[in-house]
Amino acid sequence: MSEGRSLRYLSAIEVEHLSTASPRKVSALKAAGIESIFDLLWHYPRRYIDRSRQADVADALTGEKVVVLATVQRVSPRRTKQGRSLVEVEVADATGVLRVVFFNQAWRAKQLRFGTEALFDGTIDSFRGERQMTNPVVDVLVGTEGQRSGYQKTDRVIPIYPQSAKGGLTSWNYGVLIEEALRRTVAFADPLEETELDRFDLLDRGNAMRAIHQPESLEEVEPARRRLAFDELFRLQLALRLRRAQLQRDARGIAHRVDPSEAQGGAHQESFVSQFLSSLDFEPTSAQRRVIGEIAVDLASGLPMNRLLQGDVGSGKTVVAIATMLAAVQGGHQAALMAPTEVLAEQHYLGISALLQDFVIKDDQHLGGTRSLDVRLLTGSVPVAKRRVIAEGIAGGDVDIVIGTQALLSADVSFGDLGVVVVDEQHRFGVEQRAALRESGRRSRAGADPDLLIMTATPIPRTAAMVAFGDLEMSVLDEMPQGRTPIVTHWVRTEMEDLGVWERVREEIADGRQAYVVCPLVEGSDRVAARSASEEFERLGSHELAGLRLGLMHGQMKTVDKEAVMAAFRKHEIDVLVATTVIEVGVDVPNATVMVIEDAGRFGIAQLHQLRGRVGRGAKQSYCFLLAGQETSADAKTRLGALEATTDGFALAEIDLDLRGEGTILGSRQKGRSDLNLAKLSRDQDLMEMARALAIEIVGEDGSLGGRQQLADELELTLDPDDAAFLFKS
Ligand code: ADP
Ligand code: MG
Repeated sequence: MSEGRSLRYLSAIEVEHLSTASPRKVSALKAAGIESIFDLLWHYPRRYIDRSRQADVADALTGEKVVVLATVQRVSPRRTKQGRSLVEVEVADATGVLRVVFFNQAWRAKQLRFGTEALFDGTIDSFRGERQMTNPVVDVLVGTEGQRSGYQKTDRVIPIYPQSAKGGLTSWNYGVLIEEALRRTVAFADPLEETELDRFDLLDRGNAMRAIHQPESLEEVEPARRRLAFDELFRLQLALRLRRAQLQRDARGIAHRVDPSEAQGGAHQESFVSQFLSSLDFEPTSAQRRVIGEIAVDLASGLPMNRLLQGDVGSGKTVVAIATMLAAVQGGHQAALMAPTEVLAEQHYLGISALLQDFVIKDDQHLGGTRSLDVRLLTGSVPVAKRRVIAEGIAGGDVDIVIGTQALLSADVSFGDLGVVVVDEQHRFGVEQRAALRESGRRSRAGADPDLLIMTATPIPRTAAMVAFGDLEMSVLDEMPQGRTPIVTHWVRTEMEDLGVWERVREEIADGRQAYVVCPLVEGSDRVAARSASEEFERLGSHELAGLRLGLMHGQMKTVDKEAVMAAFRKHEIDVLVATTVIEVGVDVPNATVMVIEDAGRFGIAQLHQLRGRVGRGAKQSYCFLLAGQETSADAKTRLGALEATTDGFALAEIDLDLRGEGTILGSRQKGRSDLNLAKLSRDQDLMEMARALAIEIVGEDGSLGGRQQLADELELTLDPDDAAFLFKS
């Protein structure tokens, strides 16, 4: 720890205290959420320009994407014939003049007055033979007041600060304010120790702060960014480790009667797990055996398991789920499997009860001291009377395995002795649900926190997983069962080709196979989507797929009706299932070999991958056709190209992360100040690993920070209030 100003100190000084902050600027800062010197200094530049490398106006060619630094010469706001607002601006640098136009941005006339110096970032097009730039991104550098005093650090590299669109502060204003804040801070306390900085090759905080705001050259920026990004990731990892330690300290777990070597076919041949694995009509993959072993170690320990299992579509997660549940049942506990939909719950019920029908369980209450292992389905569509009987069995402990949706965790279902919960296809099983689960277990006779296994086929890149699920253990099924033929994926771009697709569907069906057709995504309510799916079903039935046995499934149908259609498809009474994305996850009909996705450009990568995973589940060659014509956007083309190129879910997830950024993966889990600002998950994998390693070293078993007071202080200051309350309650 070094001498200097701490974050807490800086956050206690309000921006009013800066002599460069006029009342107008103070209120503009506050409007932007910047209250203290800490807020101000942690308001990083969005980008930089190097004056010596700036494009000259004279050189900008039509069709080129350029950023020019220029001064406003003339502004004329007008209206187009259609009554739209049009602001025409003439800008110039030393080399030439350029016309810039803004449609429907009347406020630009106020922002860009004569003499304003700004960056204009856009594409040069041509209008009546003249070059012009339309609706560029604008960063105002110096407003009309033209003050450049007090901020002459470097002429060459200019930081561009994020600005709110309509007025407020210019980038130059920020530069001046930050210059003063840096000067008056003098030195920054660093929460990292000298040895840690050396070990990870990181700048100290003071140097990083100076270089991020006032680099002498562009080369100085990246090392500074790395250090400050490290801080963001490190705080996140510390919070996750602390949370984990805390959960373990408060935990009341069950030590299940399971021997981890069973998964390898060792020791207890008579155990349920080994009996189950040898009863399968295929060999478990070595990945399945390994993961079952990892889970068994957790189950046998007295701490509750919190494990996330990632396995690509078709990797055989269900086998792992069953083995996990059997381990609990072996010791006299109950297990629950929760599926995201009732249709999937039903499918799991059918599959699992068939696989476990010969299992016999010791029970002194029964004549002969044994009974059959009891597997039950409990969903909203089970008739009330039957539901009551099942609920009694669950409460009394006669039911060993319950399959249903998340409604199983509601307060009106009480378990006799809940030992294990498996959650299928739901990686967003959040903190609240985990709390409900704990409650459910503690209410039951077991009086303890059930072990939890969360399964997902949504591959999560490792770095993102470390952020979003740093408090979970991680297992990966990284091997596909033998004998699968890779799915052939074809992106179909024209209507002529479409015809070939339907031909292919007919051939496969003539061969005894089955197919899915996924309807275009439609905007609007479920009802609108359902109507359009019904229309597509009618259309295909009387045209392309006339004469085949078609089934329809969409979200507006009653669960019993969906289940009936699914059952008919499974029994091969239906050849082609026309559906909305309700079939996205988990549906398992190995005889289906063709997946046609209409208007595929509108789906995301993960969704397409999930949908494609509905086929290729047997030994036969399977096909996936992505229909997407001319109007496909550039991003969509990247997505479809990626799907065509690989069936590797993890590779696709990396591409997705690149295309969409981390926000979509992290969802709303990380809010507030703990938001990642400089850190980029797709790029900062190494920083993340370093941050995690250091967090693991520092956070003790007791959930303390080992006397690192400054770290504790920064965490408390930067975490969002809920997390902070959770972690720092005494
Ligand atoms: P997912 O991981 O997508 O949930 P499933 O558990 O539904 O995958 O398994 C997909 C299919 O593969 C099922 O039909 C299942 O019976 C079969 N399967 C699972 N494990 C193996 C294996 N080791 N060898 C052959 N087939 C397997
Ligand atoms: Mg599954």
